[in-house]
Amino acid sequence: MIHEIIAVGPLQCNCSIVGDEKSHEAMVIDPGADVSEILAIVARHGLQVKQIVVTHAHLDHIGGAMELKKATGAPILLNENDAALVAMLPMQANWLGMRDPGKLVIDGSPRSGDKVKAGSLSGEILLTPGHTEGSLCLYFEPEKKLIAGDTLFAGSIGRTDLPGGSYEKILHSLHSKVLELPDDVIVVPGHGPLTSIGEEREENPYLQK
Ligand SMILES: [Zn+2]
Repeated sequence: MIHEIIAVGPLQCNCSIVGDEKSHEAMVIDPGADVSEILAIVARHGLQVKQIVVTHAHLDHIGGAMELKKATGAPILLNENDAALVAMLPMQANWLGMRDPGKLVIDGSPRSGDKVKAGSLSGEILLTPGHTEGSLCLYFEPEKKLIAGDTLFAGSIGRTDLPGGSYEKILHSLHSKVLELPDDVIVVPGHGPLTSIGEEREENPYLQK
């Protein structure tokens, strides 16, 4: 699997570009900003973007989705439980001092267990509410990779003090979904360095029983 990660925008959201080496079909997860840089990586690998997956509707993760959709024709997938946050994007832009991305059209609302496909790649949706109501992770089981959004970070977890956040829900999501995965799964958090399920199970202060 081709997998490039770039930190985009002022909040340095980790955007993943994941491609199938044979068919060159690809998906982009969390195109928060810097769409021209994302498209340069897509072009460098000769990829065709078939899916745009947004882990949750915070502006730093979704801000470039519409521009990327216009450039590639790929649909935007976001869980419908984050619809209220989509409606609040102009307000989010105001808070963060970022540009309002304008009207966003969401094309599909993935549910737990759904598979998002591009070529031979298949990412499984794990709904992990807590950071936001509609937060999701994307799990590539054969490649042992989890794109975690802002649900899990190296040594920390997503904040729950923003609208729609719930500390009880994020802990439940982490214990019932994320920690069910094997220790050797690599975790790509929404911000900051990569980690693994095993490291977080052992060391993450929020995940100790
Ligand atoms: Zn967030």
